[in-house]
Amino acid sequence: MLRMALHWQILIGMLIGAAVGVVLNKGYGERETTLVRADQRTKDVAKAVWNDVQSAKFVDTPNTIEITITDLAGKSRTITVDPSGKNPDSVPTLGKVKQKDPAAYALFEAYGRSTSRYLGDWSSRIGKLFLRMLQMVAVPLIITSLITGVMGLGHAERLRSMFGRTLVYYVATSMLAITTGLAMVNLIQPGQRSEASQAAQEKPNVEEKDLGETLFQQVETMIPLNPIRAVADAKFLSIISFSLAFAIFALLVGGRTAELIGDLFRSAFEVMMAMTMAIIRLAPLGVLFLLLGVVATQGTEVFGSLGLYMVTVFAALLFHAAVTLPLILWFVARRNPLHYVKALSPALLTAFGSASSNATLPLTLTCVEQRAGVSNRVSSFVLPLGATINMDGTALYEVVAVLFIAQLHPDFDLTFADQIIVAFTALLASIGAAGIPHAGLVMMVIVLQAVGLPVEMQGIIIAVDRVLDMCRTSVNVWSDSCGCAVVARFESGSGAVAELAQEGAVDI
Ligand code: ASP
Repeated sequence: MLRMALHWQILIGMLIGAAVGVVLNKGYGERETTLVRADQRTKDVAKAVWNDVQSAKFVDTPNTIEITITDLAGKSRTITVDPSGKNPDSVPTLGKVKQKDPAAYALFEAYGRSTSRYLGDWSSRIGKLFLRMLQMVAVPLIITSLITGVMGLGHAERLRSMFGRTLVYYVATSMLAITTGLAMVNLIQPGQRSEASQAAQEKPNVEEKDLGETLFQQVETMIPLNPIRAVADAKFLSIISFSLAFAIFALLVGGRTAELIGDLFRSAFEVMMAMTMAIIRLAPLGVLFLLLGVVATQGTEVFGSLGLYMVTVFAALLFHAAVTLPLILWFVARRNPLHYVKALSPALLTAFGSASSNATLPLTLTCVEQRAGVSNRVSSFVLPLGATINMDGTALYEVVAVLFIAQLHPDFDLTFADQIIVAFTALLASIGAAGIPHAGLVMMVIVLQAVGLPVEMQGIIIAVDRVLDMCRTSVNVWSDSCGCAVVARFESGSGAVAELAQEGAVDI
C-alpha cells in the first residue's frame, strides 16, 4: 500500500486536531458548577484546599472563567480570568490564579472545568508525551552529532571558517527579520487603531532584567563548571561548547585515540538517529493532540481587540519566511526553496505544534540530513547552535510587540533613534532567549526597559502569545535550516553536495 508522505500526515493531524478542538470549544465549552462542603470526598483534592471553604461556584466559558469561593465565615471572594483584559479586576490566565489563590485553582481544576477544557487539558498532556520523547533524544543526539560532525571535518581550520560563515548568516538574517518587523509595524500601525489600550493592565510578575548581565550569563554558561551537570540539566550552550572542545582536542591528540573516539561517537550517533526517526513517525499524532489542546481551551474573543497586532506579526513573519529566506536559499545556497521546505516540513510543523525550537531540534537535524541531504558536519554544528542563538522569528516578534505597546501608550512617541535601540536590543534578546515556549515574551522585558516603556504593559499581549509563539518558532527553525543549506554550499570539499548526490534525498 502506498504510504502518505509524512508532511501530509502531519498536516492532516493538525487539521483534525484543530477541527475537534473547535467543536469542543463551541459545543462543550460552557459549564456552571456549584459546590458545597459535603462534596469534599467526591474528588481527590488535597484536604488543605478545603480547609476554609464553605461553598464554591464556577462559571467556565471559552472566553472567561469566574470562580467564587465562600469561606467558613461566610465571606466571598471572586476571581475572574479574562484574557481580553476588558474587566479591570481580572487576571489574564489560569496560571495567574494558581499563583494568587492556589486553593481556588485546585478546586476549579477538580470540579469546575468545562468538558472542552477538561478534554483539552488531557489532550495537551498526551501531546506532550511526544515532546518528551523528542526531549529524551535531544541531548545525546546533539552530543554524538556534534562530535561526529567536528571529527569528520578532519582539522580545526575548517571549523573556524564554518563558524565565521554561520555567525554571519545568523546575524544577517536576524537583522533582515527585524527590518521586516519594523517596516510592517510602522506601516500597519496596529497600536493606533486598537481598543486594547483601554484593556486592563494586569501587572505581570516581571523580573527586572539587565541586558549586559543576561548576555554575560550566556558567556558563563559556555564554560560549564560541571559538564555532567550541564548534560543532566540539558543546558544546550554548555553542551555545545564542551562537545566542540572535546572533539577539537580529540583531533589534536590524533592517532589511535582520535580513531577510537570517532568510531565510538559515530556508532552512538547512528543509534540516536535511528531512535529519532522512529519518534518522528509519531509526529502526526503528537501534533494532533497538541493542537487540539490549544484550540479547545482558547477563547476567541481576545483575538478581537488584538487582531490587528496579530495580523502585523503574522504578515511580517510570513514575509520573512516566504520571501526573504527563500531568496537567500535560491541565490546564495542555490537550492530550490520548494523542495527544501518540503524536506523540512515535518520539523516546521512540529515547531508550530510545540512552540519550542529545542524540542524540535532532533527532528530538524534528521530532516536536514536525511531528507534535504545536507552533510552531518554542517548540520550538527549549525542547528544546535542556531536553536539556541539564531531566532529570526523571535527577534521580529520583539520589535513588533514593543512598538505596538509604544503605540498604545498615550504619552509615548518612539523616535527613530529609539526604534534603532529597539532593533538592536531585540537582536540581543533573541540571542539570549532559550528555545522553549514563551521565552521571547520573557526576554521582551529587556527591550521594553531599553526604551523606558513600563514592563506591566506586557500584560496586554500575554493572552495571544501562544499562537504567535507557534508561528515564530516555525520561522526560527526554518531560518536555522536555511542556514545549513547556505553554510553547506560554501563548505568546499566537505562533501555536502557529493553526499546529496550519493544518498539522494531519503524520504521518511
Ligand atoms: N518559543 C520560541 C522557540 O522555541 C522562543 C520564543 O518564545 O520566541 O524558538
